[in-house]
Order: sequence, then C-alpha cells, then structure tokens
Amino acid sequence: MTKTIFRNTFITGISVLIVCAVLFFGIQYRQTVDETYGALEQEAVYIEQGLMTGGVSYLEKLGDGNRITWIDSSGTVLYDSAFANQEGTEKTSPEVSDALEDGEGRKIRKSESSGESTMYYARKCQDGTVLRLSRPLSAVQKALVTVGPVLWVLVLVLLISAVLSFRIAKQIVNPINDIDLDHPEIGKYPELTPLIRKIQEQKLTIQEEVASREEMRREFSANVSHELKTPLTSISGFAELMSQGNVDPDKVQEFSKDIYKESQRLIALVDDIIKLSRLDEDSVEPEWENVDLYSLSGEVLDGLRAVADKQGIKLKLTGSPATVSGVYALISEMVYNLCDNAIKYNTPGGSVIVDVSPRDNEVLLSVKDTGIGIPPEHQKRVFERFYRVDKSHSKEIGGTGLGLSIVKHGAAHHGAKVSLESEPGKGTKITLAFRSK
Ligand code: ADP
Repeated sequence: MTKTIFRNTFITGISVLIVCAVLFFGIQYRQTVDETYGALEQEAVYIEQGLMTGGVSYLEKLGDGNRITWIDSSGTVLYDSAFANQEGTEKTSPEVSDALEDGEGRKIRKSESSGESTMYYARKCQDGTVLRLSRPLSAVQKALVTVGPVLWVLVLVLLISAVLSFRIAKQIVNPINDIDLDHPEIGKYPELTPLIRKIQEQKLTIQEEVASREEMRREFSANVSHELKTPLTSISGFAELMSQGNVDPDKVQEFSKDIYKESQRLIALVDDIIKLSRLDEDSVEPEWENVDLYSLSGEVLDGLRAVADKQGIKLKLTGSPATVSGVYALISEMVYNLCDNAIKYNTPGGSVIVDVSPRDNEVLLSVKDTGIGIPPEHQKRVFERFYRVDKSHSKEIGGTGLGLSIVKHGAAHHGAKVSLESEPGKGTKITLAFRSK
C-alpha cells in the first residue's frame, strides 16, 4: 500500500512538473524569439536611415554584428555583409517577397549559404529596396541557456517531491497499521474512528454468528446422538432378551417386528441426516431441470395411497400442470415430507388435498390436511431440526423430526418461499411458492 501511494503521488508530481517545464520553456523560447525580432527591427530602422543618406558605403562602414543584406526590388543583391564580393547572386527569398509586398517580412528557415537555422527580418526601404537583417537561431537558443538554473531547480523540486511522496505515503499507512482493534479507544486519529467502529461491529457480528452456529452444531449433535441412541437401545434390549432365551416363543415374532421397526427408523434417520448435511454444504446434485409440479405431486400421492387407505384418509390432487426449474429428486422429497406429515398428523376419515396453481410470477404448491393442526406457539419452531410438537407420541407416530427442516432447506435451495397456516383441531396448510419459469 505504501508503495502504491508513493508511486501514484510521485507520478502525479512528475507529470505536473514535466507539463510545467514544457510550458515554461515554450513560453521562454517564444518570448526570446519575439525580443530578437524586435531588436532586429529596431536595428533595421536605424540602418535604413544611414543607408538612405550614406548609400552602400554606410553599410560597409558598419562593424561585425548581424548579417546585413541589401536587395533591390528585382531581387538582385546590392550588398551582403557576409559575402562582400558576391553581389547580384541572391535570389528572392520568402521574407524579401513578404517585405516587397507588405513592407515587412519575418522568417525562421535554413540559410542556403550557411545551412544554419536563421532568423530573418526584411524591411522595405523608402526607395523600394529591401534591407534584410539576420541572426543564426543558435544565438537565440544560447540566450535560453540562461534559464539553465531553472532546470536544476526543477530537478531539486523533483527530488523533494520524491521524499515528500514517500513521507506522505508513510503518514497515510502508519495510522492504519497502528490500529489496535482490541483497544480502538487508544487511537490517535479521530478520522479513523468511524472505520474502526465499523470493523468492531463486524467483528462482534461475526463472533455472534460463530457462537450461534457453534450452539446449533452442539444442539444438533446432542439431538442426533439422542435420536440414534433411542432405537439402538430398544434393538439391543430386544436382542439381549432373545439371546438369553428369556422370551416366550410366541413373543419372538413380536420382538423381531419391533427390532425391524426400530432398524427402519434408524435407516430413515440416517438418510435424513445425510440429506440435510448435503443441503447444508450446498452439495445437492446440480441437475436442474424443468419439473412439472402437478405430475410430480401425483406421483408422490400415488406412492402414499396405500398408507393413507389404511387410515381411511382421502388423497386428492387439484390445480393444473405448472413447470418450475429445480432438482426433481429434492422437490419430490419435499412434497413427500409434506404429504407424509399431512397423513401422519391427520384424523381417521380425514383428507389431504395437494393443489398446484400458477399465480403471477409464481407457482404455488400447497398441501392441506384436515388433521390435528399445530398450536400457534409451535408454528415457527416446527421447521427446526428435531422439533416435535408432541414429543411423547413421536415414537408411535414415527418420523425423524427432520422432515420440515428438509422442506425449509430444499425451498431455500430453490429460492422458494414456505408459509404455514394451521388451526389446532381443524388442520394445516403448508404452501411452497416457487418462481415460475
Ligand atoms: P416428524 O418427522 O416428527 O414429522 P417434521 O420435521 O416433519 O418431523 O415435523 C416437525 C413437527 O411438526 C412434527 O413432529 C409435528 O409435531 C409437526 N407437524 C408437521 N406437519 C404437521 C401437520 N401437517 N399437522 C400437524 N402437525 C404437524
């Protein structure tokens, strides 16, 4: 983090400095060029006056300085301080043409005679001839060298900005490194208090979540041990009696049936635990497909019809075909658990109605029974693992205490909502609201 802040601050500093330097030197160059043209113009004015009165001999008397060229209106060189013996050789150059046309011409171009970049100033005299003064551009650039110290200042500024960037980066990062989350009140930086408070709050939330998960895990383990131990104790007791030969021969068949029943309970319990732990880990098979809830419910009801008939309970399917996207086996398991409960907790001669109806963006699947109902104070808790309303009769009624937990987790897996309406003595209706396809 320190490195990133340092790099970014430094790069910004350097960029600003480079832009400033380019602007500074550009302006300085422009100004020097303008000043040089001004000086050439001034000088040309004086020389013109001397030339008009003294003629070419005036020019010859002028000492070393800028190159002076005198040209007539046809472009013939009358005098050139650089080439005293080459009169008449100059052809019309752009600045001279400009002077002949507009009275004045300025150009920076390569001199044909010296090959050097040169500044030219040409001026039309009163007699129609042109007086031209020129100075090599290198002389102008030399003047720029006077701004050399500025360069050194820039380098110095660059170094200072590097040191400052590093210090700023450290100053930003240090307070964050110094935060003591166990003693946030010790912080020296009040600006960081809201951040520290937020981190503290999150830490507390995580701690609470971990504690509640741990509590749930402990409760679940205790419940599982208890649920496993009860049938195992019965099985072991029956087996012990039978092995000791203390059982009347006519009771052997009854005991064997009990051992079989308890073993089936154990198998169902282990099955449900496996299903729930798969849902907890979200490792349900990813085979999502189009599932018609109406035909699926029909299949589930067909599977339960024999059990229902035994208790004189009527099963009915209403509604219409409706497709949702989901894991077939899991939805089937959820509907089975709901229907199984609706039969188990029903009264003789009662009924179970499964209804599948599309509504707006949802498909509602409800299982309604005319059974014993669930008292209001238990309605929220029946979806908890191993929660049973009537613990004393759980053994004879059967069930693992995990059926509605599987329904709740399966619904969450499909993004479906679960709702429960129940009235003791009248019956229960549990509805699953799936997102329609
Ligand atoms: P179980 O295996 O005991 O049926 P569930 O998780 O399926 O476990 O249900 C939890 C408890 O909710 C049941 O023990 C029962 O007391 C109550 N319950 C569930 N469904 C019904 C229903 N249709 N009518 C009355 N009570 C129900």
